Amino acid sequence: MTAPLNFLSSLTGSFAMPAAENPTVAMVEAAYRHHGIDARYINCEVAPEKLGDAVRGARAMGWVGFNCSIPHKVAVIEHLDGLGESAKIMGAVNCAVRRGDRFVGENTDGKGFLKSLMEVVDPKGKRVMMFGAGGAARAIGVELALAGAGSLTIVNRSRERAEPLVQLLNDKTPAEARFLAWSGTVAVPADVDIVVNATSIGLYPDVDGRLDIDLASLRPSLVVADVIPNPPRTLLVRDAETRGCTVIDGLGMLINQGVIGIKYWTGVDADPEVMRKTLEEIFGL
Ligand code: NDP
Repeated sequence: MTAPLNFLSSLTGSFAMPAAENPTVAMVEAAYRHHGIDARYINCEVAPEKLGDAVRGARAMGWVGFNCSIPHKVAVIEHLDGLGESAKIMGAVNCAVRRGDRFVGENTDGKGFLKSLMEVVDPKGKRVMMFGAGGAARAIGVELALAGAGSLTIVNRSRERAEPLVQLLNDKTPAEARFLAWSGTVAVPADVDIVVNATSIGLYPDVDGRLDIDLASLRPSLVVADVIPNPPRTLLVRDAETRGCTVIDGLGMLINQGVIGIKYWTGVDADPEVMRKTLEEIFGL
């Protein structure tokens, strides 16, 4: 007996503002096509005052989940029915997942980063130096700490943004965190294993932006990870490669957070290579 015709696809998508420059829809739909998943990903521009309506709409239409990005990552929480462990610690959600009749908030930013990192090193017991203390740094810091990173040094220009992150890591995770003011050129100490750029330095159009770090302190034994997805070959990535470090670019984090979202929404383990190829085509790599 042939299966009955079905014209009702599963719905997923993204709520953000702005939304037009975000390539996630192309990446996720490439994976849906590749795996024959009957689902759509709808990129929606949603103003802050319309967020509640958007979530209620997604609920009414039976969406299986959605991403949310700037400026909704914190505000969306009041419209959801619960939070995953790391999202609860971070106080930020970028992926809602329908479980039964509830929308549960997860954060795949840090999880996507961690998945990329795990391909080259397990952070358990490792010493991490992270530049930046904004939303991306908060997500990455919490996931690294929950994955057992031994110590985290948060290097940031403004103390006001860094101190709450340091306090959150010390209070709510087993890791030891400390703040280092970024007021001049910073050398990576000899006992550090992993360096992370979680600032927006290098993000298009700031393509000539370079972190103020002592390049001579980048040693071949270091893993250097950059979060910048566009362009992925930042000056930090190139400097670290030249010095012989193991390097991870920001595309890996973007792709892996997509892989995790698709798994949450559809149960399918999406092929990251299909998604990387789509992004590389988009970015002309
Ligand atoms: P935020 O605005 O929340 O934080 C920006 C951080 O960068 C702050 O710590 C800020 O320091 C620092 N910073 C910015 N400019 C400079 C500068 N010139 N010198 C020193 N420090 C600077 O941004 P997000 O955390 O949301 O995003 C950060 C980056 O992460 C973005 O480029 C984004 O594209 C990327 N990202 C990548 C993802 C991926 O999947 N690859 C996912 C999510 C984000 P201060 O506190 O002093 O202002």
